[in-house]
Amino acid sequence: MEIQFDTYYNFEEIVARIKWLAQQNPQILEIIEIGKSHEGYSVPLVVITNKNTGAHREKPAFWLDGNIHSIEITSSAMVLYFIHRCSMEYGSDSFLTELIDNNTFYCLPCINPDGMMRALAAKPAFYRSGVRKYGEDGNYLYVEDIDGDGRILQMRIEDPTGDWKISPLDSRFMIKRAPTDRESEGPFYRLFAEGLVPEYDGETIPQIFPHQLDFNRNFPIKWRPEGEQQGAGDFGGSEIEVQNVIRFIAKHPNIFAAITYHTYSRVFIRAYSDRPDSEMHTSDLWMFEDLEEIARNTTQYPTVSGYHDFKYHPKEIISGAFDDWAYEHRGIFTFTVELWDLPTAAGISEKNDQKNFIGWFRKHPTTDDNKILQFVLDNAPHTLAEWREFDHPQLGKVEIGGLEHLFSWRNPPQHLLEDELRPHFDCVMQMASLAPKLEFYQQTVTPLDDHLYKIEVILHNSGYFSTYVSHQAKNMQIVKPIYVDLTLPAGAQLISGKKRVDIGQLEGRSNKNSMTYYHSPTDNRKKIEWIVRIADDDNITVTAKSCKAGSIECSLHLRQNT
Ligand SMILES: [Zn+2]
Repeated sequence: MEIQFDTYYNFEEIVARIKWLAQQNPQILEIIEIGKSHEGYSVPLVVITNKNTGAHREKPAFWLDGNIHSIEITSSAMVLYFIHRCSMEYGSDSFLTELIDNNTFYCLPCINPDGMMRALAAKPAFYRSGVRKYGEDGNYLYVEDIDGDGRILQMRIEDPTGDWKISPLDSRFMIKRAPTDRESEGPFYRLFAEGLVPEYDGETIPQIFPHQLDFNRNFPIKWRPEGEQQGAGDFGGSEIEVQNVIRFIAKHPNIFAAITYHTYSRVFIRAYSDRPDSEMHTSDLWMFEDLEEIARNTTQYPTVSGYHDFKYHPKEIISGAFDDWAYEHRGIFTFTVELWDLPTAAGISEKNDQKNFIGWFRKHPTTDDNKILQFVLDNAPHTLAEWREFDHPQLGKVEIGGLEHLFSWRNPPQHLLEDELRPHFDCVMQMASLAPKLEFYQQTVTPLDDHLYKIEVILHNSGYFSTYVSHQAKNMQIVKPIYVDLTLPAGAQLISGKKRVDIGQLEGRSNKNSMTYYHSPTDNRKKIEWIVRIADDDNITVTAKSCKAGSIECSLHLRQNT
């Protein structure tokens, strides 16, 4: 089956491809249905791990998801790209193979099939997230293809008080009217997304329907109702698509890190959304910084906290978002990754260099618009359309044309998609390589007396993160202590030690300083001792289970020295 990344697949096409990949790679891929969408689509999650080296739940896991927002289709392409690369390179790339042997990747290409299918329909319609009826209809604009050309362009209406004008460089491209532009310098226009206004009152030009569900405000973390935050749903976790995600993650405490993909801005965003970094556990903040360094090095994207650098309004915070929920309630190091950015692709580097992600939208020089136009002409000329008159069923005479948002602003033009995705594969792999890893460091059996043996087992964490990964996970009691169990054959007798030993947690390399004279304590190891009475030539089994660092088992053969 053809799987390419110079095109966008809709949900059904993605499902066909992951099923095919799972059939081709049964040793490392498995599909689990995590629930249904509002309209009844089965929502598949791809589990990637080498099944021969242990079950997926018994390994540290990385979560990836996409398309919580309907039209951010680059995000599901990213998750499919990740699954595809794993399938193709397992067994040949040693770094990747080792990661898939030792870890699990939970990959959810599309949280929200209903909205995504609308975005890529033959007659598309754009929803923020879900399509469930929510909020009162009214004099609003519903974004959809109204002239039947299969795409959603812009609508404009000439208006002397309008705030848009035609670019002198290209008549299809609209630019902002300057504050000092006089009416006589027109024509000026009102600019809208292509769409319908079913309840048009005949005079007020509507805004886009505000009562659309936004699943990324519906997570049960400091959830706020409609009056405080639009689209947040009826209550925290009210939406079935969100429930699918939180139920799965709550049942899989082995998840230690997560990325939820969105578009656009080219930025990694992490918790908190609602308060400063100074309120985060300091060690957790340092761990986030380690991951952010990987993100910057592999993708060249900047990294920010939502609160400090990615607020839609300087005095407003968002809540009910996946990344806050996953970190605060589950202790998972989580990033919201905004893939793609038309302005930076067009060479407007100051925007991201100065972390002016949102402020730029409010105000930027016209020269920036010219750069964007040039980029579109060079890279995506098919997304620019001539303005044509159209008899709008509610608004009367309008013009439709301008820029196709879906493959310019919101997602990269098709032929640039793979370039955008590629660095993020390496980013995830490098982040995953920081996982904790529980191992047997040493096992010693000493015969003491007739049928009496001393057993010493040293466990260690050979990973970078501690076995609890984040202090938040420990504080929220998501991680249980590491339990070491001794299993004896029938007739054997435990003389000293406990059958189940709680060894707490093991540190990793992440808590060590970088000074060259600094000491490196072995706080990643613990020793357990037992004395057993047992028949010669018998075996005992030692198992160790860590919530996030994996489960391991070894068998020891007991024999007297002769
Ligand atoms: Zn989004």
